[in-house]
Amino acid sequence: MAEDYDFLFKSVVVGDGGSGKTAVVVRFSQGFFQENYKLTIGVEFAVKTININNYNVKLQIWDTGGQERFRYVRPLYYKGSMGCIILFDLTNRESFDHVPKWLEEVKKESGNIPILLVGNKSDLIDERTVSLEEALQISKDLNMFYVESSAKNGNGVGDVFAILSLLMIGEDIPPEMLNINIPGGSGIKQNLNMPKSQKKIQEEKSISPLKPS
Ligand code: GDP
Ligand code: MG
Repeated sequence: MAEDYDFLFKSVVVGDGGSGKTAVVVRFSQGFFQENYKLTIGVEFAVKTININNYNVKLQIWDTGGQERFRYVRPLYYKGSMGCIILFDLTNRESFDHVPKWLEEVKKESGNIPILLVGNKSDLIDERTVSLEEALQISKDLNMFYVESSAKNGNGVGDVFAILSLLMIGEDIPPEMLNINIPGGSGIKQNLNMPKSQKKIQEEKSISPLKPS
């Protein structure tokens, strides 16, 4: 039976181990949260179709399966991906400090694809060690959009994938989507003007999405 979708995008989630990549992907694709995710060997992916701006977007989201530290397995993982989430843990400073390293690897393996920076574990307000201002600053400096999520209570998880989908299609991101899940973020403006080069690549990509035949 033919599937009804307008776009099929492979996307990858990267970031330090323990940041919540698996938790966010499982929350998004299956709708639940648990304290412990079995460490799996090899790459796994989740599939989910969402409707956004009247497009049915089928997302194939690759998760590292606990092999974040093994560089040699990662090129395969990135192959053919059209968008990327760099996820860090808002309560783990080191995972935030490693964001530029992850960005470098994404660019090396996948070129200039749309990337969304995500600060996860927003529910752990008292344990937070990365401020909103710092996260917004780095996202601006490194030219990414930024949102916060909690796989535990579900906040922001849907937006993560909706925003990434819009970026991959090449559509504008409604500003309210970027502010709504950021505590006190209603007045904070993110850089909505991506440089032309990036925008152009998105447009080119949107011409030849993986379409059902
Ligand atoms: P990964 O190594 O990046 O895939 O991280 P996991 O998804 O395995 O999550 C690591 C740990 O953090 C697990 O114990 C999760 O239950 C926990 N965790 C993940 N996301 C959240 C979150 O949003 N809030 C809280 N409180 N814990 C989380
Ligand atoms: Mg994992």
